[in-house]
Amino acid sequence: MKIDYYNPECHKGSQPVRVLYQNTKHWFKYVYPEFKSTELQEVIDKFGLHDDINIIDREEKIACPAFVGSFKIISIQETFLSYLWSLTYSLIFLYDKTIHEPRTIENYVMTSDVKEKAKKSHELFDYGLSLLNTFNPWDKENLPNPELYDRVYDDYIEKANGAYLHAVNFILVHELGHVALGHIDNDIESDTAGMKISNDTLLADEMDADNFSFDRMFLSTEHLTNNHTASVGLISALCSFIFFSTNMKGGDHPDPDKRLQSALEKLKLADEDNLWGLSCLAFKLWAMKHKLEFNWPQITDTYKDLFYLTMTELEKIKNKK
Ligand SMILES: [Zn+2]
Repeated sequence: MKIDYYNPECHKGSQPVRVLYQNTKHWFKYVYPEFKSTELQEVIDKFGLHDDINIIDREEKIACPAFVGSFKIISIQETFLSYLWSLTYSLIFLYDKTIHEPRTIENYVMTSDVKEKAKKSHELFDYGLSLLNTFNPWDKENLPNPELYDRVYDDYIEKANGAYLHAVNFILVHELGHVALGHIDNDIESDTAGMKISNDTLLADEMDADNFSFDRMFLSTEHLTNNHTASVGLISALCSFIFFSTNMKGGDHPDPDKRLQSALEKLKLADEDNLWGLSCLAFKLWAMKHKLEFNWPQITDTYKDLFYLTMTELEKIKNKK
């Protein structure tokens, strides 16, 4: 039986991800147990960071994943969060049920139930991507969402929630990193002096903020969930960035495929790890969206091999465009 978890008394916002805001804010403060009382407090004291996350709940299309302005408030759009949840759910479900299980379970037969859920996952994925162009309400009667679902039948919703919360946290702590590492103050100073920060500095700042967040989110994963869920969340956040680009170039950010590659390498995964496969799936969906085809071989030894082959393909696409 479906239960509606929305409670207007405690859930602010207008989109189904609102039921997770309290978790989002809590996880941010406790990315590791001492974070709130040590590093976070220092950034508040030293750099004047506003101590609450600003969730912009206007019904509008996605502008960017998250940002910190000169008022030192970490802001994130509700619509971006809907996008991120949709992608996280779809990637996990489609990977597990349409790629991994058929490949590893002997005599696998896909049930009509799984087929139906896979169809919904694709629809949800398309809904998520549509938010990049225009805002539309989430059809929560028909599509998977974190607010209205059957805990037993919709068994991937809560799986997705765990990875999604890590994904959001990676992005929020990345933004915090920009403040803690002095990037925001540099921006403000350069602005005041009428100077422009070089693209090289901007790119280096982004990688530093990614590393800042990465290092903290893996300090003590067990106290929030576990290492695996945190890794899935991290990769899901980075996969969500690739759909912002039509040519896989990042402009004033590092190219999204390179950010993903750097995180996968930092995780020191086994060659057969499913996160290589999940990333390949994201690339494939990106290519389908842009009507591009990868020259994928029929067989590769591991998903890691396929990932690097895809990176080579992407290089060709970048050089063409
Ligand atoms: Zn950044």
